[in-house]
Amino acid sequence: MNRTNLLRTLREPGELVAHGLVRRENLAELQKVAARYAIAVTPAIAALIDRGDPGDPIARQFIPSAAELVAQVSERADPIGDDAHSPVQGIVHRYPDRVLFKLVHVCAVYCRFCFRREMVGPGKDSALSQEAYAAALDYIRSRREIWEVILTGGDPLMLSPRRLAGIMADLAAIDHVKIIRLHTRLPVADPARISAEVVAALKIEGATTWVALHANHARELTDEAREAVARLIDAGIPMVSQSVLLKGVNDDPVALEALMRAFVECRIKPYYLHHGDLAPGTSHLRTTLARGQELMRHLRGRVSGLCQLDYMLDIPGGAGKSPVGPSFLSPQDSLAGQREVGEETRYRVTDYCGEVHLYPPG
Ligand code: SF4
Repeated sequence: MNRTNLLRTLREPGELVAHGLVRRENLAELQKVAARYAIAVTPAIAALIDRGDPGDPIARQFIPSAAELVAQVSERADPIGDDAHSPVQGIVHRYPDRVLFKLVHVCAVYCRFCFRREMVGPGKDSALSQEAYAAALDYIRSRREIWEVILTGGDPLMLSPRRLAGIMADLAAIDHVKIIRLHTRLPVADPARISAEVVAALKIEGATTWVALHANHARELTDEAREAVARLIDAGIPMVSQSVLLKGVNDDPVALEALMRAFVECRIKPYYLHHGDLAPGTSHLRTTLARGQELMRHLRGRVSGLCQLDYMLDIPGGAGKSPVGPSFLSPQDSLAGQREVGEETRYRVTDYCGEVHLYPPG
């Protein structure tokens, strides 16, 4: 099978077999996975997969695995508690100054670790009805504290440019909405879809547009993906990154460093590294928090400040995100027995080589 002939997205396990992306003996199990979780592998992503590497970091993200049928007790269908903070359909209002606005439940690709995997895919509610959309806009309009609206889903760039332009105009017309942020995988998954029409739809009077690109391995930032990103940034749309820490994908210092450098080379400011959420059937892709902190310690100091980002944990149940370090500062008190009577509390600060230094209180 000539992989360059792939012209459409692969959605069935049988198609993955035909294109050499999974072995025929795994077909029956993968059909069980497909019955539960959506599959989509675009031509751009299929072309990136090294069929000869059983641990290929791109394949691990997009090719289904029988391990997805094994759920842990700690895993849950709504791992970050969106539902607990949804006042009206389509809106998640967890923090005072911003809301998530979930417009669509479809994506160009379906990531095997997705924290909304129970909600996204064909057959799930595909888009908000006109009435639900109007009610969501009314909610945003009535809350003057909402400064930022984050369009997410699903992937909001799956909407047609015309629909997108209408939504952007509706939001920008609300006086207190100053920032519209879109979270997308499309520049990587299907770079050609970042067309002049899409870019024009995102440029809007009355609000500032930001785009957050989700990518987890430097190889995703192909020449075509970089050109798609450049079309957005050249139009004046600033970009940040978001990545998920994934076992066998980016949980080693070299891979993580290469990813951050690739973002910065593309003019994308590294923003968040998410610890893997407790989504059902994803334990084979999660690392420990200790491993995440070790990787962040490696990045700090050895890699340009432009490449630094926050390591974030979404607290299960809906309590929100917290940065989970590592911390380089602690009170000297934690060094039991080393503080002299009458001496003021000082701090211990650890440098990037692991050496500890004392710093005065003020
Ligand atoms: S693109 Fe985002 S919403 Fe869609 S499957 Fe991947 S992680 Fe989930």
